[in-house]
Formats: sequence, C-alpha cells, structure tokens
Amino acid sequence: MARSFVGEARRPVGRRRDRIRPIIERLAAEHADARIALRFRNDVELLFSVLLSAQTTDVNVNRVTERLFEKYRRLEDYLAVPQEELERDIYATGFFRQKAKSLRGSARLLLEDFDGRVPRTLPELLRLPGVARKTANVVAAELGNPQGVVVDTHVRRLSQRLGLTRREDPVRIERDLIPLVPRADWGRFPHLLIWHGRRVCLARRPLCELCVVNGLCPSSRVVPGAPLG
Ligand code: SF4
Repeated sequence: MARSFVGEARRPVGRRRDRIRPIIERLAAEHADARIALRFRNDVELLFSVLLSAQTTDVNVNRVTERLFEKYRRLEDYLAVPQEELERDIYATGFFRQKAKSLRGSARLLLEDFDGRVPRTLPELLRLPGVARKTANVVAAELGNPQGVVVDTHVRRLSQRLGLTRREDPVRIERDLIPLVPRADWGRFPHLLIWHGRRVCLARRPLCELCVVNGLCPSSRVVPGAPLG
C-alpha cells in the first residue's frame, strides 16, 4: 500500500472550492514550463511513448524512443518485424514482452479500425491493447481532449497534502478532483502538480518555505507569521 499523506493536512485554510483556483493560478505562474516529459513528434509516438512509460521513468523511455522512432516510422513497421525484434528494441523499458504485444496490437487496430489515426475519446482509446484508463487519460489530454484528471504518484501526494481529497486510491481521488478542478484545466492540472511535486513538494521533505501555495495548503510546515529560516 502506498504511503498516505492525508494525515499531514491539519491546518485550517478554508474550503477546497475556494482554494482551487488560486492554487492553479499560482502553480501555473511558477511552473510555466510544466508539460509532459515524454518526447514525441506525432500522435502515434505520443501513444506509444505513454504505453512504454508504464513502470519506468520518462527519461528511460526517451532514451529508448530516440532510436525506436527512427527505426519504426510508420505503424506498418511495427508489424513488419518479428515480435522478438521489437522486444529487443524496447527491452530497456522493462516488461518488454507485454509492451511489444501492446505496441503491435495497437498498431494493427489503429490501421484496421481508425485509418491509422489515434482516436481522441476514452472509449475508443480503451479499445487499444494495453491501454488502461490512465494511459487513455494522458493521451486524450495531450491531444487536447481531456476526459478526466490523470492521477499518478505525485498527483496523489499533492492532492492529499493540499487537502483536495482524503481518498487513497487513484480512481477515487480522480472522482474528487473532477468536480473540483475547472474542466478547462483538467489537462494541465496534473502536469502542474507533477512538476511542483518534483521540484518543491518532495515526498520525504517538502520545501514548504519555498512553496508558492503554502498559504493555501493545510499541510504547510511554515508557521504563519513566523520568520523563515
Ligand atoms: S511544499 Fe507546498 S504543497 Fe507541499 S506540503 Fe509544503 S506547502 Fe503544501
């Protein structure tokens, strides 16, 4: 079971509904460069990068796809090689057998049912082999049609610390965030929390004294009115 951060949210800072907009605005000003860290040049590369990113880091995926996307330029290329060759080409991302199956299965279905294009809706994306709700959410959001709020480990931790949810599992956390976060922000909101989580609200030692939302955060370790030190 992942560590919970719900218990850290103890300071009275007002209602979630009143805090969400200023939280988004301040984080957006602070992390203007917050975007998906995967590198891709088109919709298919986006989808396949996200599929490869399960259980590994974005840096690792980018290292692998730099060569992969040079070799496999069209969907047909993924079907033209033996499965084992594709497995070797993505080996370093881990779970390479399952991922190779997902890439080939998705390439086939995209060609057969979608004219070689990546669909934009959740039900269509979920038809692709290996695409679960989180992958579908990330891809749809990146294609400009966010269908929900992506909840990864950073989004979970920051949502709990910021007192936006008291839930533990990602599906329920997303259910809390959807009515709270304005729809226009569904796409960028996870990126803002992810970047803030990587740079400031670190899991072990959050840098509350440097945090632009510390006045809005019930978990802030900065005592209001006390000198910073
Ligand atoms: S770093 Fe910011 S968001 Fe994280 S606990 Fe501290 S005040 Fe809250």
